[in-house]
Parts: sequence; C-alpha cells; structure tokens
Amino acid sequence: MKYEVVIGLEIHAQLSTRTKIFCGCSTAFGAQPNTQVCPVCLGMPGSLPVLNKQVVHYALKMGLATRSKINRRNIFARKNYFYADLPKGYQISQFELPICEHGVLEIPSGEGTKKIGITRIHMEEDAGKSIHDEAFVSKHETLVDLNRCGVPLIEIVSEPDLRSAADAAAYVTKMRQLVRYLGICDGNMEEGSLRCDANVSIRPVGQTTLGTKTELKNMNSIKNVEKAISYEIKRQTEILEDGGNIVQQTLLWDPDKNEARPMRGKEDSHDYRYFPDPDLAEVCIDEPWLQRAQEELPELPDARRLRFERELGLPAYDAELLTSSREVADYFEETLSRTNNAKKTSNWVMGEVLRLSKEKNCSVRELPVTAARLAELMQAVEKGEVSQSAAKTVFEAMDKDDAPVKVLIEKLGLKQLSDVSALEEIIDRIFAENPDKVESYKNGKTKLMGFFMGSVMRISQGKADPQKVSAMLREKLSS
Ligand code: ADP
Ligand code: MG
Ligand code: ZN
Repeated sequence: MKYEVVIGLEIHAQLSTRTKIFCGCSTAFGAQPNTQVCPVCLGMPGSLPVLNKQVVHYALKMGLATRSKINRRNIFARKNYFYADLPKGYQISQFELPICEHGVLEIPSGEGTKKIGITRIHMEEDAGKSIHDEAFVSKHETLVDLNRCGVPLIEIVSEPDLRSAADAAAYVTKMRQLVRYLGICDGNMEEGSLRCDANVSIRPVGQTTLGTKTELKNMNSIKNVEKAISYEIKRQTEILEDGGNIVQQTLLWDPDKNEARPMRGKEDSHDYRYFPDPDLAEVCIDEPWLQRAQEELPELPDARRLRFERELGLPAYDAELLTSSREVADYFEETLSRTNNAKKTSNWVMGEVLRLSKEKNCSVRELPVTAARLAELMQAVEKGEVSQSAAKTVFEAMDKDDAPVKVLIEKLGLKQLSDVSALEEIIDRIFAENPDKVESYKNGKTKLMGFFMGSVMRISQGKADPQKVSAMLREKLSS
C-alpha cells in the first residue's frame, strides 16, 4: 500500500516585548528563577490583567505579513487545565475569535513554490517551566520556575497542507525568517523562543478523509523537526502495514536517542472548557492602527529575493542566500550602494563576509568590517591598488585593525604597482636586455608573452597589476 503523509504545524513564537502580556514584569531570558513575577502573572486572587498593546501590534504585523484576514474585534479566552507551572489553573489564550485567520505562507519545495494555508494566528500567555531533568534536581522532585508565566506568545496554526518532513522543515525555516524580518521574535529554537509541534498522520493514497494524527513535541531545532517527523512517518506506516490502528496521542521527541515516546493521551478542545475571559475587554483595532502596522512592515523576504533577482540581475542562488536574513540583505545593499556592482558585491558578501561572521559566530552587523569598509576595499581593487587575491588578505587584516584600507595595504606591503610610468620603466628595461626575444615575438613567436609577463612580475616582486602589464606589453610589442 502507498501512503500519503499529512502534516500540520503549530508554532509558538515568543514575542520580543520588554514586558509580559498582562503585567509589567520583565521578559528577559536567564534571570534567577521566580524573580520576574508579580500577583498578576502568579494568578493571585483579585489581581487583574492589563493587555500589553505591543503584543497586539506584533500579532497584527504577523497577520499582515501572512496575508491573513484580520479580525478587528477579537477576544481572549480562558483555556482551563491543571499543571504545576500554571498557577492560575487556566491559560489566557484566544479561541473562538483569534486576531488573525486564513493566512498563507509560501514555501520552496521540490515542485516549485507551494502555498501552505494558515488556519489562525492567536495571542496567548506562556506558562512557567517545570524542571526535572537537571543534575541539581533529585530523582523524585520537580522544581518550578514561574518567570516565563505571562510571557507573550503568538501561536501560528497551519492547515494540514504539508506533505513531507522536508516540507515541514521548509515551513519552519520560512516562518523563522519571517518573524526575524519583522523583528517580533528572535527565532531562537534552542532557547525555546520558537517552538514547533508537529501533527502527523498518513493515509492510503487516494483516500480523502484524514488519518488519525499524533502530535510531536520538544524538537528544539529544524533538523530535529525533520528527524522526528521522519521517525513518526515510519512508525505509523509500520503499524498500518501490520494491520494495526494509530492511537491519537502526544509524543515527546528525544534528540539524544532519536526516538519519540508517548507523553500523554491527547485532550480534545472541549476538555479545556474554553470561555471568554471576563477580566479582559474585547480587543478593538481601529483603521489607523491597522494602517500603521501595515506601513511599518519591512520589505518581506520573498519580495526582496525576487527584487534581487529581477532588478539586480543576481542568480537565484545568490538572491536566496543574501536575503536569508535581514541583516545580511541590509549589509549587501549598503555595500552595493557604494560599489554599484551587484555580482561582485554578492561574491564578497556570500564569500568572505558570511564566512567571517560564521567563524566569529556573530551577526554581520557586528563585524568590524562594515559595509562601508568593504566597499572601500572593493574600490581599491577596482582602481588597481591591490589585486583581487591580495584583497582577501587585506580583508582578514581589517577584522583586527580599523585603519583605513589604503593604510593597511601599505602596511602589508600589498600595494599593487599600477602606475603607468613605473611599469613602463620595467618593461623598457626588459626589452633592452632581451632584444632577441623582442625580435622573435614580432616574428610570430607569441608564446614569449609568458616570458615578458614573468619578467615584469619578478622585477616588481609580484606587485605589478597583471591586467595593466599585459595590455601595455601587447601594445608596445605590436608597434
Ligand atoms: P488539536 O485540537 O488536536 O490541537 P487541531 O484541529 O487544532 O487539533 O489541529 C492542530 C494541528 O493539527 C493543525 O495544524 C492541523 O492542521 C493539524 N491537523 C489536524 N488534523 C490533522 C491530521 N489528521 N493529520 C495531520 N495534521 C492534522
Ligand atoms: Mg492544538
Ligand atoms: Zn507579572
């Protein structure tokens, strides 16, 4: 039997606001446990939540960037469940009327671009953290850190439109790129600012109803999302082949053992007893607010990639890589504004700049070689002051020394000899010392060009500009 894979993803993105969604507590990561809490996020009786406007603004931007329908009036609801890291006994989320619905995200896939439907995007608060698997926690103990209670999230729920583990990885990659472009989430999966749950089912090819799904949690990298889904597809296929049934459940991915283990049976939404939160008023987004969010949207990654291809004439590969992050695309465009050569600038950025930022594990924005300095170096190459290969040495030096490019070239002894009269002097000397070779060349032994070039390079100690020398030799020898 051939099976078709069906996947829907739920992504939680932690919004980079300074304070929590319903109180003024800090959202900073890594503070001492239980120091960033107050009566509101601890769910003390009598405390009242006050909505952080920035959260709505960020959710709005995400909705617009995914071409979602914006519900100008939307409401918060209580999702009731009991857990040690949820002191209120309910999570404030959105249920019946979320802020955004019916969006779309385009992903690259084997057969070109694929449109993945976004069912909804809603705002909610995060829960605290239960700690049981650290060395300092004894075996039968669980510690609770409530700093994360009330940290703002958006949950982005996709339609079951993904058809492979690779599709899912492409979707998460694009979603992470998008939230980073918008500046609403840092997209860090290791620290949990971007979390992905994968719903996976399979069905015989041709069947129109969906198969029973399982939900995978705890994949803290895109690679693990892909691995976990592949694992689960194989597991489900084997069960069905053996004539068994899939049990609807939540599985926890173990990245060390490369396997998924059952965590709990899955609740249905009616188990949560959702109801509108009586402590919070309806959210109303007026026209000017909507407009402001729209105007603040940066050029989005897909649009920028296509512009780099169409308007700058860059190969698709370059455009894709250069727009993978907003910082890189900005760095590239700033350099380009001073060099006016898209392909040469792209080569520098994709090559030396990205290599260095990877090596130093920092953003291109933090490199000592700024876009302006790279442009300065490229101009020196253009003017023949330094050769293309020597420029790479200068680039390395620029990382440690902020002296002007010209000074560094001198310092490193890499100044290229392109002064016409100096080159002429060398050439004339070689001609005077080798009249026989000049004669033979003129009589058709053009192979001697190599000898003349070599001589100039030797006398100039490799610093002569080869292009210039070659042109001058040709001209002099033909006269
Ligand atoms: P739940 O209530 O279990 O969270 P939802 O209907 O809210 O289920 O869907 C959650 C996610 O699971 C969505 O991304 C949706 O696209 C996906 N999904 C729903 N049914 C299936 C299925 N049969 N196979 C794969 N994914 C599914
Ligand atoms: Mg769900
Ligand atoms: Zn608080």
